[in-house]
Amino acid sequence: MIVLLDNGHGSLINGEYQTAGKRKDWQEKGIIYEGEFNRAIVNGIIEQLTFYKIPYVNIAPEYWDVRLETRIKRANKYPARSSFYLSVHSNAGGGHGSEIFTSPGNTKSDKIATVFGEEFQSEFPDRHLRTDFSDGDLDKERRFYVLTKTKMPAILTENFFMDNFEEFRDILNTREGRQKIIDFHIKAIIRTKIEIFKESAPLNF
Ligand SMILES: [Zn+2]
Repeated sequence: MIVLLDNGHGSLINGEYQTAGKRKDWQEKGIIYEGEFNRAIVNGIIEQLTFYKIPYVNIAPEYWDVRLETRIKRANKYPARSSFYLSVHSNAGGGHGSEIFTSPGNTKSDKIATVFGEEFQSEFPDRHLRTDFSDGDLDKERRFYVLTKTKMPAILTENFFMDNFEEFRDILNTREGRQKIIDFHIKAIIRTKIEIFKESAPLNF
């Protein structure tokens, strides 16, 4: 199983943010750029996947904003049956908690999303997982480009809200909070490898 990691947006180059919007300035309390946050999580995932010898590809290692079409073109070079696509984001627009998205329809992506949702809930038992059980499982379904155009299973995690001050202060802008987000992704990836891709557990796990 190869994990295809997508950090979602551009980041900062020479202090200049490459992506329009996708930030929240809390003035004297700090600022969060989604592209920086997404990379911190993806880089933490990469560190752990290397430790566990689980193959991965960083789909957009550049700091500029790589077009969605380019991300998908790169991803679709990998075999659909032995890879899955994981896009990491943080939410905005008012609200709290986290969400796991898949494309509509019941596919392998839904099984993977369920594992991610369960690991989120075990890592953050006091936090809200925004779910939609109308199709029988916890993920929310949207026609996001990276979810519909990928030929392999694909999920997208929205990790808390940048424009919720409490979540910014206590989770998104703290080392501990970011590590917990990394940890639930890693636990979910390892369970996906074992339970869904039917591969053996990593040796040092
Ligand atoms: Zn995003």
